[in-house]
Amino acid sequence: MAKNKVKNWQIQREMYYPYEEVRPQKQFAAVFDINKCIACQTCTMACKHTWTTGKGQEYMFWNNVESKPYGFYPLAWDVKILDLLGPQKWEGKVYKGNTIFEAAPKGQVAQGYIPEEIDWAHPNIGEDEPSGSIDKGDFITMPHKVWHFYLARICNHCTYPACVGACPRKAIYKREEDGIVLVDQKRCRGYRECVRACPYKKVLFNNTTKIAEKCIGCYPLAEQGHQTQCVTTCIGRIRLNGWLHTPDKPDPANPVDYLVHIKKIALPLYPQLGLEPNIYYIPPIHVPLPYLIQMFGPDAANAVAAYKNAHKDETLLGALTLFGSTEFWSAKFRVSKGIVTGYGEKGKELVKVPLKEPVFIRPFHDEKLQVYRHNIT
Ligand code: SF4
Ligand code: SF4
Repeated sequence: MAKNKVKNWQIQREMYYPYEEVRPQKQFAAVFDINKCIACQTCTMACKHTWTTGKGQEYMFWNNVESKPYGFYPLAWDVKILDLLGPQKWEGKVYKGNTIFEAAPKGQVAQGYIPEEIDWAHPNIGEDEPSGSIDKGDFITMPHKVWHFYLARICNHCTYPACVGACPRKAIYKREEDGIVLVDQKRCRGYRECVRACPYKKVLFNNTTKIAEKCIGCYPLAEQGHQTQCVTTCIGRIRLNGWLHTPDKPDPANPVDYLVHIKKIALPLYPQLGLEPNIYYIPPIHVPLPYLIQMFGPDAANAVAAYKNAHKDETLLGALTLFGSTEFWSAKFRVSKGIVTGYGEKGKELVKVPLKEPVFIRPFHDEKLQVYRHNIT
């Protein structure tokens, strides 16, 4: 298998990949703020109803939300790939261990495995299960001694997709115009090499049609400037779509660039795997740091500190306030006089949101109506 050296900014070094480095004109990306997810699964159902109601798709959740540390879909997906990968050492911001491409067994493109059918059968396994039991007399500390959090997941539309690299039919491709990764269903022959290679297990096999399927980044919506179904329906307003530049050319006025590259508050999921995934997470602030570093890389401590200080940083607060405020993609944002404004690609104003919601206090006793109010704000 031909191997090329490519630059992966998330691990701050070059690495091997089956194809040359080709970056799209613009890259589909999203930021998910874990601190706000309530595991209502509205995103999961919105995606399911939109894209996976057909035969052979019954078990499929292109979007899923799992409770960490003990929730998984499929069973133990991250524990298994981390175990197969071996030691994952960071020296500062540079990853010194192997990526899944560098750890590939002979004859394969990436280290991986195909989950068993039963592994997909319990998408809610471990839901709300905390990391341990709470002892009598315990009190809450930061980070929490006993904790859990909700990890919402979709395909990462990776810059170096293992699914693309592993497909012997070249049936999976990354679109030049927006970096969305798609399966050409006419070319796919169902060898499942993509299922084996994707460490996030976000390519799924349709047992009726016998071909691979995956999240399509809601591309018909993206092409019209609309954010994805999982983003616009999110009850917790934890999500924001955006176009991401590379760290050498960030646009500080682009909200996703700002969160990922400028403030470095939104981090990739398991960057050590080497795929340069493009869904970024604001890590949970109540979880012990070693776990966060393993999951989101060495910037986790800084991200938590920046998030805790967001109330003192008007621009950051503005970018965070844009989440869930409009169904359209905001290409730019600006904060002025306590209001954040989102703009479309051609500069059109899309949305205006105050950073602080106004509060009106009404009298407990309304003289005019002669009533008492119990809820007075
Ligand atoms: S997350 Fe998996 S399916 Fe999605 S682009 Fe990356 S390797 Fe492919
Ligand atoms: S809709 Fe939003 S808040 Fe609800 S589970 Fe999905 S990501 Fe979390």
